[in-house]
Amino acid sequence: MRKIGASLIFPLSGPVLKNGYLEVDDSGCIISRGLLSDKESFNGTEFFDGMLVPGFVNAHVHLELSHLKGKVQSGKGMGHFIGEINRLRAAGAEEIFRSAATAEEEMLRQGIVAAGDIVNTSDTLALKKQRRLEWITFVETFGFHPSRAEKAITGAMELGQLFQEAGLTASIVPHSPYSVSKELFREIRALNRSACKIISMHNQESEAEIQLFRSGDGPILEHITGNLGLDASHWTPSGLSPLETILPLLPEKAPLLLVHNTFTTEQDVSLLKQAAKYRKVWLVLCPNSNLYIGKTLPPVDLFRREGMNLCLGTDSLASNFELSILSEIKTLQNHFPGIPANELFSWASFNGAQALETGERFGSFDPGKKPGILLISPVDLKNGKLLPESKVQRLI
Ligand SMILES: [Zn+2]
Repeated sequence: MRKIGASLIFPLSGPVLKNGYLEVDDSGCIISRGLLSDKESFNGTEFFDGMLVPGFVNAHVHLELSHLKGKVQSGKGMGHFIGEINRLRAAGAEEIFRSAATAEEEMLRQGIVAAGDIVNTSDTLALKKQRRLEWITFVETFGFHPSRAEKAITGAMELGQLFQEAGLTASIVPHSPYSVSKELFREIRALNRSACKIISMHNQESEAEIQLFRSGDGPILEHITGNLGLDASHWTPSGLSPLETILPLLPEKAPLLLVHNTFTTEQDVSLLKQAAKYRKVWLVLCPNSNLYIGKTLPPVDLFRREGMNLCLGTDSLASNFELSILSEIKTLQNHFPGIPANELFSWASFNGAQALETGERFGSFDPGKKPGILLISPVDLKNGKLLPESKVQRLI
């Protein structure tokens, strides 16, 4: 049993505790929490100057792309980015595995206890079997041309089965509104009819995506026809936003994690609020990745004003310098200084745990949970803010 105290504790399921403590058993299970109200209560307490927060949840990552770290030039936009991923992603099995293992190590060091991971291959299966953190796997399907739908869904089912046979949670998901045909969306929907599994999808990440749906041209179409050499003659722009176009095609009732939402509008948000009446909707923000690719951030103020459920992801090392949720929080704090630390930590831990359906174990300092305990220091205690030099240390 340990009694761990700190200047500020963020339980995330209740008010912030100033000079608070957590009692934890030897397995890391939270027994109780409270305030160090007098001198006596400090007895036997390991006290830290800084903030204590529950383990972080990275709601969006691609571990299998870790070997692309530093290979894609930043700031060149979406058309360039997806072309480069396509060109560079092939590599030797050993290089892919080694890079993924190093990235997983970094995530653990950065206090990440659970992650929603996109896969196109089984390259990370052996790592995930070790269960060093809680991996929720999303098997991603692509297929711009309708003729590809059947092959894509068969391949995804085979891959998903490998993860499921290893006892890992896996669901089959569409890559994005622009890379999945209506036929393939229909296949995914049919699969999900019996099992209501989480859908995670990249959404409105770039202006190019909006352009493809509104006017039927632009850098994404150029990538599809140029880099991929695909026939796009069937493509008719809906004239609507990508989200408006594909929302009716998604599996009914399945919880929905929409990733990026950089160009999501007020109109899209009201559509999502309607959708939230019959399904859970989460917006996953990956600010460092958005800055890396397109130097733009999502409309966070709009999302907050409208009460959207937000969580955080790092995306892959192809579009980020590190897999650190703390770094994503710092970026948000810099660009949106009005957001309180408690809210940012809620996105980074509590909401992510809920979104990945791991909230029974992770996301808050509640008795019975084993969320991991992170110390963030040094911090600006007076204003309750992170500093550029703030670091995370795993206490448990
Ligand atoms: Zn991604």
